Amino acid sequence: MPGSDLHRNKLSLMSESAEVKNVVIVGAGQAGGETASELRRQGFTGRIVLVGEEPQVPYRRPPLSKAFLAGTATEESLFIMPPAGLEKAHIEFLGGVRAERIDRSAKQLHLADGRVLDYDKLVLATGGRARGLTLAGAEGKNVFPLRSIADVKQLRAHCQSGKRLVIIGGGFIGLEVAAVAVKMGLKVTVLEGLPRVLARVTVPEVSAFFERVHREAGVDLHTGVQITAFDGAPLVTHVDLENGSRVPADFILVGIGQVPNVELAQIAGLAVDNGIVVDEYSRTEDPDIYAAGDCANHPNAFYGRRLRLESVQNAMEQGRVVAAALLGKPQVYNVVPWFWSDQYDLKLQMVGLSAGFDHMVLRGDLNGRSFAAFYLKDGRMIAADTVSRAQDFMFAKKLVALHAQVDPLQLADESVSLKTLLPAA
Ligand SMILES: Cc1cc2nc3c(=O)[nH]c(=O)nc-3n(C[C@H](O)[C@H](O)[C@H](O)COP(=O)(O)OP(=O)(O)OC[C@H]3O[C@@H](n4cnc5c(N)ncnc54)[C@H](O)[C@@H]3O)c2cc1C
Repeated sequence: MPGSDLHRNKLSLMSESAEVKNVVIVGAGQAGGETASELRRQGFTGRIVLVGEEPQVPYRRPPLSKAFLAGTATEESLFIMPPAGLEKAHIEFLGGVRAERIDRSAKQLHLADGRVLDYDKLVLATGGRARGLTLAGAEGKNVFPLRSIADVKQLRAHCQSGKRLVIIGGGFIGLEVAAVAVKMGLKVTVLEGLPRVLARVTVPEVSAFFERVHREAGVDLHTGVQITAFDGAPLVTHVDLENGSRVPADFILVGIGQVPNVELAQIAGLAVDNGIVVDEYSRTEDPDIYAAGDCANHPNAFYGRRLRLESVQNAMEQGRVVAAALLGKPQVYNVVPWFWSDQYDLKLQMVGLSAGFDHMVLRGDLNGRSFAAFYLKDGRMIAADTVSRAQDFMFAKKLVALHAQVDPLQLADESVSLKTLLPAA
């Protein structure tokens, strides 16, 4: 958006907070929960209604494929805002009900149970759903997605030592589940269609590292394999591959990414393009409707292009941007994306987007269990992946945010603290 438009937009947002008395949020997840609590933290005294299709209060999803699946975290420990906290903050939570339709001219939200909610401002924080497979047999009773607490409960009921779990997809969720399941004593096979795991998010060297780690842990990992069918009904017993082999399975996890939940916006006539299209302030083309989190496609000021991100950090930051705009204190969404994944004893932390890098610098040893990969473009750091290096990650975040010019030799030298590479303030 040109600077003058941005300014005009900001002025219009600054003048409207007094009229906002009634905020309705669709989607009681990370972004919806953050929007509601940030509104209260910032002193909003009007009505806040949080509508969620799931019965639970807003909860954190990352533990679903980690500690919650492993059984070391309770359901309550996932709650971002326990019921008592919502009550104390006077946030009305309507759980277990789907929002079906927005009437933009009447400024009303229609729920599946017939209730109709008036709003001054509506926030769409509808997240995404697990992408499904359209293959024959994919509707088998032992084929599961992983997006919600309910999904993990189903999956966990099958997680008994010795059982054969076939995981379709070598992305974050597939690999995290593989790590947990193999530790539980299951026989785990991972089938990835692309030539390497984590192919969409990192470089071949880091993919190879994770492939080695999983294989050493006992995971039977295959890349570049195409699935042709799920065999058996109502329970799938085999996964058939294009190369003619058949992989026996007691149950199957499909972890092939997610699809943003945009239908509510789409039916209401709002622009949708790989997510609900919003401006720098997370506002849709309807000035009374905002969108945040996995469902939103935003212009990222840091990268100078549109992005739809799927991370806790993004959901929280956008929730705060929405709250700020609703309170007449608009802030442009301008953050460097970061993400993490836990597998075995390893913590992978990623900052920035490495696409377009021209030089990679490695610090540490890919054959060990701790290293950092830095991605440079024209001598400046644009992204980093670190494995079990909390300190390096902390400084990498700063270096990426500053587009810092770095000396590759110093970067690679373990005896040089990354702190010393930060530009002088
Ligand atoms: C298994 C798993 C592991 C993950 N691990 C990590 C990690 O390690 N690190 C990380 O940064 N991110 C991780 N993520 C991603 C992160 O959890 C998401 O990016 C984040 O939850 C997005 O928040 P959100 O509020 O946009 O969406 P969600 O948290 O998905 O919330 C959206 C909510 O909206 C509800 N909803 C949708 N449509 C409607 C409707 N019409 N009416 C009412 N309610 C509706 C949905 O039911 C859902 O409860 C993980 C995700 C999963 C599934």
